[in-house]
Amino acid sequence: MLENFYPAYTATVVQRLLDAGGRFVGKTNMDEFAMGSGSVDSIFGPVKNPWDSRCIAGGSSGGSAVAVATRAVDFALGSDTGGSVRNPASYCGVVGFKPSYGTVSRHGLISLLNSTDVPAIFSRTVSDTRTVFNVISGWDAKDSTTFKEPFPAPKKQLKQYSPDMPKLRIGIPREFLLPELFDHNLMPYKDTAKRLELLGADVRPISLPHSEYANACYAVLCACDVASNMARYDGIEFGHRSQAVVRGRILAGNYFLLKRNYSAYFEQAAKVRRLIADDFQRVFESGQADVILAPVTLGEAPELDAFCGLDNRTQQELQDWFTVGASLAGLPAISLPIGLSVKRQLPVGMQLIAPFREDLFLLDVAERLE
Ligand code: GLN
Repeated sequence: MLENFYPAYTATVVQRLLDAGGRFVGKTNMDEFAMGSGSVDSIFGPVKNPWDSRCIAGGSSGGSAVAVATRAVDFALGSDTGGSVRNPASYCGVVGFKPSYGTVSRHGLISLLNSTDVPAIFSRTVSDTRTVFNVISGWDAKDSTTFKEPFPAPKKQLKQYSPDMPKLRIGIPREFLLPELFDHNLMPYKDTAKRLELLGADVRPISLPHSEYANACYAVLCACDVASNMARYDGIEFGHRSQAVVRGRILAGNYFLLKRNYSAYFEQAAKVRRLIADDFQRVFESGQADVILAPVTLGEAPELDAFCGLDNRTQQELQDWFTVGASLAGLPAISLPIGLSVKRQLPVGMQLIAPFREDLFLLDVAERLE
Protein backbone atom coordinates (compact mmCIF):
# COMPACT_ATOMS: atom_id res chain seq x y z
CA MET A 1 0.00 0.00 0.00
CA LEU A 2 2.74 2.45 0.95
CA GLU A 3 5.40 1.10 -1.40
CA ASN A 4 5.95 4.44 -3.11
CA PHE A 5 5.20 6.62 -0.13
CA TYR A 6 7.90 8.90 1.22
CA PRO A 7 7.02 10.39 4.60
CA ALA A 8 7.02 14.16 4.65
CA TYR A 9 8.25 14.32 8.23
CA THR A 10 10.28 12.23 10.68
CA ALA A 11 8.71 10.29 13.54
CA THR A 12 9.58 11.66 16.98
CA VAL A 13 11.22 8.41 18.10
CA VAL A 14 13.42 8.39 15.01
CA GLN A 15 14.32 12.07 15.37
CA ARG A 16 15.29 11.59 19.01
CA LEU A 17 17.56 8.69 18.15
CA LEU A 18 19.16 10.67 15.31
CA ASP A 19 19.72 13.61 17.66
CA ALA A 20 21.38 11.25 20.15
CA GLY A 21 23.81 10.01 17.49
CA GLY A 22 21.95 6.87 16.38
CA ARG A 23 22.58 5.64 12.86
CA PHE A 24 19.74 4.05 10.96
CA VAL A 25 20.40 1.05 8.79
CA GLY A 26 16.99 0.48 7.24
CA LYS A 27 13.34 -0.32 7.60
CA THR A 28 12.33 -3.85 8.45
CA ASN A 29 9.76 -6.29 7.12
CA MET A 30 6.50 -6.70 9.03
CA ASP A 31 2.82 -7.57 8.70
CA GLU A 32 0.97 -5.00 6.65
CA PHE A 33 -0.16 -2.13 8.91
CA ALA A 34 1.09 -4.14 11.93
CA MET A 35 -1.93 -6.44 11.74
CA GLY A 36 -0.78 -9.93 12.58
CA SER A 37 1.35 -12.03 14.87
CA GLY A 38 3.60 -13.83 12.45
CA SER A 39 5.11 -11.31 9.99
CA VAL A 40 3.69 -13.43 7.19
CA ASP A 41 1.23 -10.94 5.68
CA SER A 42 3.74 -8.78 3.90
CA ILE A 43 4.21 -7.91 0.25
CA PHE A 44 7.90 -8.79 0.74
CA GLY A 45 7.06 -12.33 1.87
CA PRO A 46 7.28 -13.83 5.36
CA VAL A 47 10.04 -13.07 7.85
CA LYS A 48 11.89 -16.28 8.73
CA ASN A 49 12.99 -17.28 12.19
CA PRO A 50 16.79 -16.99 12.42
CA TRP A 51 17.05 -20.13 14.58
CA ASP A 52 15.03 -22.34 12.26
CA SER A 53 14.05 -20.95 8.88
CA ARG A 54 11.03 -23.28 8.65
CA CYS A 55 9.45 -21.33 11.50
CA ILE A 56 7.91 -17.89 11.74
CA ALA A 57 9.76 -15.05 13.44
CA GLY A 58 6.61 -13.85 15.19
CA GLY A 59 5.07 -10.50 14.58
CA SER A 60 3.97 -8.11 13.57
CA SER A 61 7.35 -6.40 13.99
CA GLY A 62 9.23 -9.61 13.07
CA GLY A 63 11.88 -8.05 10.82
CA SER A 64 13.13 -5.85 13.66
CA ALA A 65 13.43 -8.87 15.98
CA VAL A 66 15.47 -10.74 13.38
CA ALA A 67 17.73 -7.74 12.72
CA VAL A 68 18.61 -7.72 16.43
CA ALA A 69 18.83 -11.52 16.84
CA THR A 70 21.21 -11.83 13.88
CA ARG A 71 23.33 -8.97 15.24
CA ALA A 72 22.78 -6.89 12.11
CA VAL A 73 21.94 -3.99 14.45
CA ASP A 74 22.32 -3.13 18.13
CA PHE A 75 18.66 -2.36 18.62
CA ALA A 76 15.52 -1.88 16.59
CA LEU A 77 12.10 -0.33 16.96
CA GLY A 78 8.70 -1.86 16.42
CA SER A 79 5.19 -1.03 17.48
CA ASP A 80 3.42 -3.03 20.15
CA THR A 81 -0.35 -2.66 20.06
CA GLY A 82 -1.34 -6.10 21.31
CA GLY A 83 2.01 -7.88 21.54
CA SER A 84 3.79 -7.19 18.26
CA VAL A 85 7.18 -6.54 19.84
CA ARG A 86 6.99 -8.97 22.77
CA ASN A 87 5.86 -11.87 20.55
CA PRO A 88 8.69 -11.78 17.94
CA ALA A 89 11.20 -10.98 20.70
CA SER A 90 10.14 -14.21 22.38
CA TYR A 91 10.38 -16.31 19.22
CA CYS A 92 13.72 -14.83 18.15
CA GLY A 93 15.45 -14.85 21.55
CA VAL A 94 15.86 -11.11 22.15
CA VAL A 95 14.58 -8.55 24.64
CA GLY A 96 11.32 -6.83 23.65
CA PHE A 97 10.05 -3.93 25.78
CA LYS A 98 6.64 -2.27 25.51
CA PRO A 99 6.70 0.87 27.66
CA SER A 100 3.61 2.23 29.44
CA TYR A 101 1.12 3.87 27.10
CA GLY A 102 1.86 7.58 26.83
CA THR A 103 5.54 7.42 27.75
CA VAL A 104 6.76 7.23 24.15
CA SER A 105 5.44 9.53 21.43
CA ARG A 106 3.36 7.98 18.65
CA HIS A 107 3.94 10.91 16.30
CA GLY A 108 4.94 9.39 12.96
CA LEU A 109 3.59 5.94 13.80
CA ILE A 110 0.75 4.65 11.64
CA SER A 111 -2.14 4.07 14.04
CA LEU A 112 -3.66 0.64 14.56
CA LEU A 113 -5.57 0.70 17.87
CA ASN A 114 -4.75 4.27 18.88
CA SER A 115 -5.32 3.79 22.60
CA THR A 116 -2.92 0.83 22.90
CA ASP A 117 -0.27 1.67 20.26
CA VAL A 118 3.19 2.02 21.81
CA PRO A 119 6.53 2.38 19.99
CA ALA A 120 8.62 -0.40 21.50
CA ILE A 121 12.20 -1.59 21.63
CA PHE A 122 14.14 -4.71 20.63
CA SER A 123 17.68 -5.23 21.87
CA ARG A 124 19.92 -7.99 23.13
CA THR A 125 20.24 -6.75 26.71
CA VAL A 126 18.00 -4.94 29.18
CA SER A 127 20.71 -2.31 29.61
CA ASP A 128 20.63 -1.48 25.88
CA THR A 129 16.85 -1.30 26.11
CA ARG A 130 17.16 1.16 28.97
CA THR A 131 19.53 3.37 26.96
CA VAL A 132 17.17 3.50 23.99
CA PHE A 133 14.15 4.03 26.25
CA ASN A 134 15.83 7.00 27.93
CA VAL A 135 16.37 8.58 24.51
CA ILE A 136 12.94 8.02 22.97
CA SER A 137 10.63 8.47 25.98
CA GLY A 138 9.17 11.71 27.30
CA TRP A 139 6.65 14.40 26.47
CA ASP A 140 6.11 15.39 22.86
CA ALA A 141 4.05 18.38 21.77
CA LYS A 142 3.06 16.37 18.71
CA ASP A 143 1.38 13.58 20.69
CA SER A 144 -1.18 14.84 23.17
CA THR A 145 -1.31 11.48 24.96
CA THR A 146 2.32 11.72 26.13
CA PHE A 147 2.82 12.69 29.75
CA LYS A 148 3.76 16.31 30.40
CA GLU A 149 5.35 15.54 33.74
CA PRO A 150 8.91 14.29 33.61
CA PHE A 151 9.17 10.54 33.92
CA PRO A 152 8.47 9.79 37.59
CA ALA A 153 11.09 8.25 39.80
CA PRO A 154 10.04 4.65 40.33
CA LYS A 155 7.66 4.35 43.28
CA LYS A 156 9.20 1.05 44.05
CA GLN A 157 12.95 0.67 44.28
CA LEU A 158 14.54 -2.67 43.69
CA LYS A 159 17.14 -1.56 46.24
CA GLN A 160 14.54 -2.05 48.93
CA TYR A 161 14.52 -5.71 47.96
CA SER A 162 18.33 -6.09 47.90
CA PRO A 163 20.71 -7.85 48.17
CA ASP A 164 18.61 -10.48 46.47
CA MET A 165 14.93 -10.00 46.07
CA PRO A 166 13.39 -10.79 49.44
CA LYS A 167 9.84 -9.59 49.68
CA LEU A 168 9.53 -8.82 45.97
CA ARG A 169 6.13 -10.31 45.16
CA ILE A 170 5.84 -11.99 41.79
CA GLY A 171 2.29 -12.84 40.72
CA ILE A 172 1.47 -15.87 38.60
CA PRO A 173 -2.02 -15.39 37.09
CA ARG A 174 -4.09 -18.56 37.55
CA GLU A 175 -5.97 -17.83 34.34
CA PHE A 176 -2.74 -18.05 32.34
CA LEU A 177 -2.22 -21.72 33.14
CA LEU A 178 -3.98 -22.85 29.96
CA PRO A 179 -4.07 -26.55 29.07
CA GLU A 180 -2.12 -25.77 25.85
CA LEU A 181 0.62 -24.22 27.95
CA PHE A 182 1.10 -27.52 29.73
CA ASP A 183 2.09 -29.15 26.46
CA HIS A 184 4.45 -26.48 25.20
CA ASN A 185 5.71 -23.85 27.53
CA LEU A 186 5.19 -24.84 31.12
CA MET A 187 8.78 -25.82 31.83
CA PRO A 188 10.36 -22.47 30.94
CA TYR A 189 7.56 -20.74 32.89
CA LYS A 190 8.17 -22.89 35.96
CA ASP A 191 11.95 -22.52 35.61
CA THR A 192 11.68 -18.74 35.52
CA ALA A 193 9.45 -18.73 38.60
CA LYS A 194 11.98 -20.96 40.34
CA ARG A 195 14.86 -18.67 39.38
CA LEU A 196 12.99 -15.72 40.85
CA GLU A 197 12.38 -17.71 44.01
CA LEU A 198 16.08 -18.54 44.24
CA LEU A 199 16.79 -14.82 43.96
CA GLY A 200 14.65 -14.40 47.05
CA ALA A 201 11.35 -13.34 45.49
CA ASP A 202 7.99 -14.40 46.85
CA VAL A 203 6.28 -16.12 43.92
CA ARG A 204 2.53 -16.48 44.48
CA PRO A 205 -0.68 -17.15 42.58
CA ILE A 206 -2.89 -14.20 41.64
CA SER A 207 -6.10 -13.90 39.65
CA LEU A 208 -6.95 -11.76 36.61
CA PRO A 209 -10.54 -12.97 36.25
CA HIS A 210 -11.41 -11.06 33.07
CA SER A 211 -8.34 -12.05 31.08
CA GLU A 212 -10.27 -14.67 29.13
CA TYR A 213 -12.18 -11.81 27.44
CA ALA A 214 -9.07 -9.87 26.48
CA ASN A 215 -8.76 -11.28 22.96
CA ALA A 216 -12.39 -10.68 22.05
CA CYS A 217 -12.31 -7.22 23.56
CA TYR A 218 -9.13 -6.34 21.67
CA ALA A 219 -10.50 -7.70 18.40
CA VAL A 220 -13.60 -5.48 18.56
CA LEU A 221 -11.78 -2.32 19.67
CA CYS A 222 -9.00 -2.84 17.14
CA ALA A 223 -11.39 -3.39 14.23
CA CYS A 224 -13.33 -0.24 15.18
CA ASP A 225 -10.17 1.88 15.14
CA VAL A 226 -8.99 0.21 11.93
CA ALA A 227 -12.31 1.10 10.27
CA SER A 228 -11.54 4.78 10.71
CA ASN A 229 -7.72 4.71 10.55
CA MET A 230 -7.66 2.80 7.28
CA ALA A 231 -10.41 4.84 5.60
CA ARG A 232 -7.73 6.91 3.85
CA TYR A 233 -6.27 3.82 2.15
CA ASP A 234 -9.30 3.47 -0.06
CA GLY A 235 -7.40 2.49 -3.18
CA ILE A 236 -7.75 5.95 -4.74
CA GLU A 237 -4.80 7.84 -3.26
CA PHE A 238 -2.41 4.89 -3.10
CA GLY A 239 -3.84 2.73 -5.85
CA HIS A 240 -3.44 -0.65 -4.14
CA ARG A 241 -6.07 -2.98 -2.76
CA SER A 242 -5.06 -4.50 0.50
CA GLN A 243 -5.00 -8.11 1.58
CA ALA A 244 -7.63 -10.11 3.39
CA VAL A 245 -6.51 -9.35 6.96
CA VAL A 246 -6.67 -5.60 6.60
CA ARG A 247 -9.85 -5.65 4.53
CA GLY A 248 -11.52 -8.05 6.98
CA ARG A 249 -10.82 -5.76 9.91
CA ILE A 250 -12.13 -2.68 8.07
CA LEU A 251 -15.35 -4.55 7.31
CA ALA A 252 -15.67 -5.91 10.84
CA GLY A 253 -15.02 -2.48 12.35
CA ASN A 254 -17.65 -0.81 10.20
CA TYR A 255 -20.10 -3.55 11.18
CA PHE A 256 -19.37 -3.09 14.91
CA LEU A 257 -19.84 0.66 14.53
CA LEU A 258 -23.21 0.49 12.79
CA LYS A 259 -25.82 2.34 14.82
CA ARG A 260 -27.67 -0.87 15.60
CA ASN A 261 -24.50 -2.71 16.72
CA TYR A 262 -22.59 0.05 18.44
CA SER A 263 -23.68 -0.62 21.98
CA ALA A 264 -23.57 -4.43 21.71
CA TYR A 265 -19.99 -4.41 20.39
CA PHE A 266 -18.05 -1.19 20.80
CA GLU A 267 -19.55 -0.03 24.06
CA GLN A 268 -19.49 -3.51 25.52
CA ALA A 269 -15.82 -3.97 24.56
CA ALA A 270 -14.95 -0.60 26.12
CA LYS A 271 -16.57 -1.72 29.39
CA VAL A 272 -14.78 -5.08 29.34
CA ARG A 273 -11.53 -3.26 28.75
CA ARG A 274 -12.07 -1.34 31.98
CA LEU A 275 -12.67 -4.61 33.87
CA ILE A 276 -9.44 -6.06 32.45
CA ALA A 277 -7.46 -2.96 33.47
CA ASP A 278 -9.10 -3.00 36.93
CA ASP A 279 -7.99 -6.62 37.46
CA PHE A 280 -4.36 -5.58 37.06
CA GLN A 281 -4.79 -2.49 39.20
CA ARG A 282 -6.39 -4.47 42.00
CA VAL A 283 -3.54 -6.97 42.05
CA PHE A 284 -0.90 -4.23 42.18
CA GLU A 285 -2.64 -1.81 44.53
CA SER A 286 -3.69 -4.43 47.05
CA GLY A 287 -0.08 -5.52 47.30
CA GLN A 288 -0.77 -9.02 45.99
CA ALA A 289 2.08 -8.57 43.48
CA ASP A 290 4.76 -6.04 42.58
CA VAL A 291 5.34 -7.60 39.18
CA ILE A 292 3.44 -10.23 37.20
CA LEU A 293 5.26 -13.10 35.53
CA ALA A 294 3.59 -14.50 32.42
CA PRO A 295 4.47 -16.43 29.31
CA VAL A 296 4.61 -14.42 26.07
CA THR A 297 3.34 -17.15 23.78
CA LEU A 298 1.98 -20.64 24.19
CA GLY A 299 5.21 -22.20 23.05
CA GLU A 300 7.98 -22.08 20.45
CA ALA A 301 7.63 -20.43 17.03
CA PRO A 302 5.21 -22.43 14.88
CA GLU A 303 6.23 -23.64 11.44
CA LEU A 304 5.29 -21.25 8.67
CA ASP A 305 2.90 -23.65 6.93
CA ALA A 306 1.09 -24.56 10.12
CA PHE A 307 0.78 -20.91 11.11
CA CYS A 308 -0.47 -19.81 7.69
CA GLY A 309 -3.03 -22.61 7.78
CA LEU A 310 -4.75 -20.91 10.72
CA ASP A 311 -7.28 -18.19 10.01
CA ASN A 312 -6.52 -14.74 11.32
CA ARG A 313 -8.89 -15.08 14.25
CA THR A 314 -7.36 -18.33 15.47
CA GLN A 315 -3.86 -16.93 14.99
CA GLN A 316 -4.77 -13.98 17.13
CA GLU A 317 -6.42 -16.05 19.78
CA LEU A 318 -3.40 -18.33 20.15
CA GLN A 319 -0.68 -15.75 19.78
CA ASP A 320 -2.03 -12.76 21.65
CA TRP A 321 -3.51 -14.46 24.70
CA PHE A 322 -0.75 -13.46 27.10
CA THR A 323 0.12 -10.06 25.63
CA VAL A 324 -3.12 -8.16 24.91
CA GLY A 325 -4.07 -7.74 28.59
CA ALA A 326 -1.12 -5.46 29.38
CA SER A 327 -1.83 -3.56 26.15
CA LEU A 328 -5.47 -2.93 27.00
CA ALA A 329 -4.41 -1.80 30.49
CA GLY A 330 -1.57 0.37 29.11
CA LEU A 331 0.98 -1.33 31.38
CA PRO A 332 4.72 -1.67 30.80
CA ALA A 333 5.68 -5.23 29.83
CA ILE A 334 8.91 -6.86 28.75
CA SER A 335 9.70 -10.14 27.04
CA LEU A 336 13.01 -11.64 28.14
CA PRO A 337 14.86 -14.42 26.33
CA ILE A 338 14.81 -16.95 29.10
CA GLY A 339 14.23 -20.49 28.04
CA LEU A 340 14.42 -22.99 25.25
CA SER A 341 11.37 -24.85 24.08
CA VAL A 342 11.11 -28.51 25.00
CA LYS A 343 10.27 -29.65 21.48
CA ARG A 344 12.85 -28.04 19.23
CA GLN A 345 15.07 -26.13 21.59
CA LEU A 346 14.00 -22.83 20.06
CA PRO A 347 14.00 -19.61 22.10
CA VAL A 348 10.96 -18.77 24.19
CA GLY A 349 10.62 -15.59 26.18
CA MET A 350 8.97 -14.86 29.49
CA GLN A 351 7.07 -11.69 30.23
CA LEU A 352 7.19 -9.37 33.21
CA ILE A 353 4.36 -6.86 33.63
CA ALA A 354 4.56 -3.93 36.07
CA PRO A 355 2.17 -1.22 37.31
CA PHE A 356 1.43 1.74 35.06
CA ARG A 357 4.44 4.07 34.64
CA GLU A 358 6.68 1.79 36.71
CA ASP A 359 8.79 1.23 33.61
CA LEU A 360 12.10 1.85 35.35
CA PHE A 361 11.25 -0.55 38.15
CA LEU A 362 10.28 -3.16 35.56
CA LEU A 363 13.65 -2.76 33.83
CA ASP A 364 15.42 -3.14 37.19
CA VAL A 365 13.65 -6.44 37.89
CA ALA A 366 14.22 -7.62 34.30
CA GLU A 367 17.93 -6.93 34.60
CA ARG A 368 18.15 -9.28 37.56
CA LEU A 369 16.77 -12.10 35.45
CA GLU A 370 19.24 -11.74 32.59
N1 GLN B 1 -1.58 -9.56 16.78
C1 GLN B 1 -2.28 -8.36 17.09
C2 GLN B 1 -3.02 -7.86 15.90
O1 GLN B 1 -3.00 -8.50 14.91
C3 GLN B 1 -1.31 -7.32 17.64
C4 GLN B 1 -0.62 -6.55 16.59
C5 GLN B 1 0.29 -5.49 17.11
O2 GLN B 1 0.64 -5.44 18.29
N2 GLN B 1 0.67 -4.61 16.22
O3 GLN B 1 -3.64 -6.84 15.91
